Amino acid sequence: MDNCWANILNDCDGGISREHIVSKSLFIGTKINVQGFSWCKDEPKLIGLANLTKKCLCKEHNSLLSPLDQAGSHAFDVLRKQAKLIDDRAKEPNKKFKKVTFSINATALERWLLKTLINFSYGGEYYIGHDSDHPGRASDHLVKAAYGLESFSENNGMRVAYKEGGTINSHDAVQFAPVIKDNKFIYGAKFSFRGILLFMDISPDGMNVPFEDIPGTQDEWKNVFLSRKFKQIQAKHGNKISHVVNFNWA
Ligand SMILES: [Zn+2]
Repeated sequence: MDNCWANILNDCDGGISREHIVSKSLFIGTKINVQGFSWCKDEPKLIGLANLTKKCLCKEHNSLLSPLDQAGSHAFDVLRKQAKLIDDRAKEPNKKFKKVTFSINATALERWLLKTLINFSYGGEYYIGHDSDHPGRASDHLVKAAYGLESFSENNGMRVAYKEGGTINSHDAVQFAPVIKDNKFIYGAKFSFRGILLFMDISPDGMNVPFEDIPGTQDEWKNVFLSRKFKQIQAKHGNKISHVVNFNWA
């Protein structure tokens, strides 16, 4: 089926349906800042998620990804809760508290990020991945990785970006921005949610250019370190641990 980005898997079925680019259940009632495509190159555009739809997958391939949406939804719910816990505990600095442990399915979140990157970029002017052979299309490898049929190469996948000292500046904005190489190839995508910065790396050798060297980089992405197979967010309250978020890799 021509309009399905997973059609190289050869089992399209059920016709093309109009889908939400970012799973609707994820960010209830919020908008997303998008920057970096031709229609929002110079400044971020705030878009209501409800309006962000595209014909990009057949019914069969869409439904095969629905477990990812559940896992993604759970992960973002955890990130929302941990941000709230930081705020709540900051309001009552002397109140006794218990350490809370959260867990995220990192392997599923990683695939969700890739799927969402492809949804956003499909049908556009950029090659999705350095080994894509058609603008607006993802390479076969990336399609298979999104469906869990192939592993990410060593240098690719989800990175958690953090700054020295590990401070998270928790603010409300949800952002999505692709990283474009030579105005031609999508090498990755930056995702920010409640102060947590996630980078999906699909560059040939792993992202080796600091973000601050790329024109138009948002301040929160400057001078960050990228952590591969990230293990744990540790939030402190005073000098004790308030809560942790474990990233579980299958
Ligand atoms: Zn299909």
